[in-house]
Amino acid sequence: MENKILVTKSSMPPFEEYAEEIKSLWDTHILTNMGAKHRELEQELIRYLNVQNVSLMVNGHMALELAIQAMHLTGEVITTPFTFASTTHAIVRNGLTPVFCDIDPLTYTMDATKIEALITDKTSAIVPVHVYGNLCDVDKIKEIAEKYKLKVIYDAAHAFGESYRGRGVGSFGDASIFSFHATKVFHTIEGGAVCFADDAYGLDLYRLKNFGIRGQETVDSIGANAKMNEFQAAMGLCNLRYIGREIEKRKQVYEAYRKRLSGMDGLQLMTLQEDVAYNYAYFPVVFEQEAFGATRDMVSDALAKEHIFARKYFYPLTNAFDCYKDAYDANRTPVALSISKNVLTLPIYADLERETVERVCDVIVKMAKS
Ligand SMILES: *Cc1c(COP(=O)(O)O)cnc(C)c1O
Repeated sequence: MENKILVTKSSMPPFEEYAEEIKSLWDTHILTNMGAKHRELEQELIRYLNVQNVSLMVNGHMALELAIQAMHLTGEVITTPFTFASTTHAIVRNGLTPVFCDIDPLTYTMDATKIEALITDKTSAIVPVHVYGNLCDVDKIKEIAEKYKLKVIYDAAHAFGESYRGRGVGSFGDASIFSFHATKVFHTIEGGAVCFADDAYGLDLYRLKNFGIRGQETVDSIGANAKMNEFQAAMGLCNLRYIGREIEKRKQVYEAYRKRLSGMDGLQLMTLQEDVAYNYAYFPVVFEQEAFGATRDMVSDALAKEHIFARKYFYPLTNAFDCYKDAYDANRTPVALSISKNVLTLPIYADLERETVERVCDVIVKMAKS
């Protein structure tokens, strides 16, 4: 059977290198609880991400859930429905009410010009997402947050390693979270992190990820367990050595797609923002049925016939999920709804062969009207 091409493929460090990295664990028998690998990875990430503090977590979702919890918020949180389930769930699981803001039709991130109209006396925070590695309008969001005294927590799961005008993306807002899931640009198998500036907030996060245990006989808050273990941290240390090459190879795949697909009628490619150094994590294409001549679903099915599995990412919108649809109306975020119905993210990863990129493009080009 022909090999399946999935939307992404986890990068692996050389096996011997990982084996070497975890060898010391057989001497120390310290497998978790903020051991040596954990401390080393935190330091390496502070340097690489160009941020003040990093708190590692068991996964990206818990990073976000606890980052929100540590802010002690109440009431409503303005966020985007054009995201992974995790963003909305993290808000709701904190007992907060998400208020959905529509997105910008070019960057797919929260439309900052529409935030103020959604603010009420119950609003306590904004949780925007750097979708596909596009940077949110961080300057405008900061201005609004200061004016209304709101906290800002960025879901930066798509933006690992990126910078904006030379500043690490994790340094914006009161906190930013990353996901180190196996399918992300940088991974620790499962894993995540919160980046932040305020040391007091760091202590709150620490308590939340480790049962609120402060000393042998002192438990002074109601924490969960969200610790990253030493095997995860070791995978991170190995993968971090290759991250530059990874991103460079992804960039080449990205450019191969662009070369074939740009300028086609009814096919919108992502416009890269000038001031952002990208990680090339995703290659989204948005179809306009009339002009292109086929729907997103038709293209997705045609690719699947060739054993190429692109993803309808993000579809459905989170405000249209079965668990939220009775409380929300996705028609109130019309731009997000339209993008969500017409977007397809194409396979992209460092080792994706040029020949496969051409095969993907052949299918798309063949379906176009002209
Ligand atoms: C991957 C992802 C998460 C969750 O990360 P996990 O590490 O899988 O828990 C959150 N938000 C977005 C936008 C993501 O893509």
